[in-house]
Amino acid sequence: MTAVASAPDATTPAVKVGPTKLLINNEWVNAASGKTFSTVNPATEEVIAQVAEADAADVDRAVKAARAAFEEGPWSKMSASERGRLMYKLADLIEKNKDELAQLESLDNGKPLRESKNADLPLVIACYRYYAGWADKIHGKVIPVNGPFMCYTKHEPVGVVGQIIPWNFPLLMQAWKLGPALAAGCTVVMKVAEQTPLSALRIGELIVEAGFPPGVVNILPGYGPTAGQALARHPDVDKVAFTGSTEVGHLIMKYAAESNLKRVTLELGGKSPNIVLADAPLDAAADGAFFGLFFNQGQCCCAGSRVFVEDKIYDDFLAKVTDKAKTRKVGDPFLKETQQGPQVDDEQFKKIMGFIDTGKKQGAKLACGGERVGSRGYFVAPTIFTDVRDDMTIAQEEIFGPVMSVMRFSQIDEAIRRGNATKYGLAAAVWTRDIEKAYSVANKLRAGTVWVNCYDVFDAAAPFGGFKQSGIGRELGEYGLANYTEIKTVTVKI
Ligand code: NAP
Ligand code: MG
Repeated sequence: MTAVASAPDATTPAVKVGPTKLLINNEWVNAASGKTFSTVNPATEEVIAQVAEADAADVDRAVKAARAAFEEGPWSKMSASERGRLMYKLADLIEKNKDELAQLESLDNGKPLRESKNADLPLVIACYRYYAGWADKIHGKVIPVNGPFMCYTKHEPVGVVGQIIPWNFPLLMQAWKLGPALAAGCTVVMKVAEQTPLSALRIGELIVEAGFPPGVVNILPGYGPTAGQALARHPDVDKVAFTGSTEVGHLIMKYAAESNLKRVTLELGGKSPNIVLADAPLDAAADGAFFGLFFNQGQCCCAGSRVFVEDKIYDDFLAKVTDKAKTRKVGDPFLKETQQGPQVDDEQFKKIMGFIDTGKKQGAKLACGGERVGSRGYFVAPTIFTDVRDDMTIAQEEIFGPVMSVMRFSQIDEAIRRGNATKYGLAAAVWTRDIEKAYSVANKLRAGTVWVNCYDVFDAAAPFGGFKQSGIGRELGEYGLANYTEIKTVTVKI
């Protein structure tokens, strides 16, 4: 039985909601159309608030503000160290309001409050501080060219940046995007996910409070096909940075190609292999693999959804993770004991239940879970499939929910080959006590991140992004920053 903390009785707690309008040019405004949409508490299915719904006209207004701030405003004349100082101030304000922000995040997204507090918020604050430190350390090189010339490069801001973020880590995805853009001196129009607009808008309020000049950061809640598309197609946007599904990633590239060849970076989906070798420390591997999939309700682009276990330890491993799944506390995100909250919305809930159904129909076996928890809120029981073939839908498609496939292998090369055999290449992991095997497997996995004897270890300094159809470019670290600058070569005759 899945331990149900209180899914059917989850209540909407009294959380301060903050702004619900669009932030354009440091002003809170209604959408030009006057339209709004509801944002919903996924634990109760109750409407939390009505939020202004941005569309093409609002995108245009925001891009004009961002362009003016980039070309003429105080931002364009500000020293790099002053830019950094504003970013540190923002990080301090987030830290000061961290409890309130964590509550808002859990209310709108459904993730357990404990995790918002202990994972999301600390990573968010660290990300802004990390990039604040970079602001005055972005510079080029002097290059010894032939002839009587002095040649040097400058790393200039790419310009007005459109950023489109998802709902799985609303505050963190906002930080990953704003951090490098602001450090580099860009201005931003950000479309936040329609499922989770509230925390991003509250950050908008703190951005104004920190003293960022008008037009530097504009935040637009709204829908992808309308506001998102308008932003990615806008002829005066110099770059678009997108995080979300691979399917929409294809569209973003198309929009960029059909408009102005704006620069494109994409952080897309995954079907990450997690390889457990027979010599691995079994408890640590089972705990790590469990966390690597079930963390954040399974709504992680890097979720280790295909766990390949060497046959010698397969049964023991399966028993351990199944046991953990069966005793996991699913329920009200605001209760201390809750380990798993609801999925973000009805659409994701139905999509996940559909994948579970397809898994069963194609012949995979349920070791546990597979059903809804409670009758209200989008709760899915922690689910583990065995007897999963590599060509099954659940082994190929991103499920983005609490559904793990535990698969058996007997040769390391076989695990690597099967691990690599999807269109994705975001993350991967290997568990072993043998250092030679660890390096060898890490070398052969086609993924942007490989974790050895750990999973989901993130740091603002360590780049993250995908091989193959998991994306283009990297976020975080110095590599993430590079995607927000243009290189200018200046050659001076001496
Ligand atoms: P999605 O459609 O890719 O959404 C991500 C962001 O893109 C949202 O802000 C979305 O707006 C926007 N968007 C959607 N269509 C667009 C378009 N035509 N032009 C511009 N922007 C557009 O993802 P989803 O529908 O929320 O989730 C579907 C699947 O995507 C999930 O099941 C999961 O597999 C994957 N996903 C991956 C990540 C990740 O971190 N890599 C995050 C979320 C989802 P709306 O808010 O209106 O949708
Ligand atoms: Mg969508």
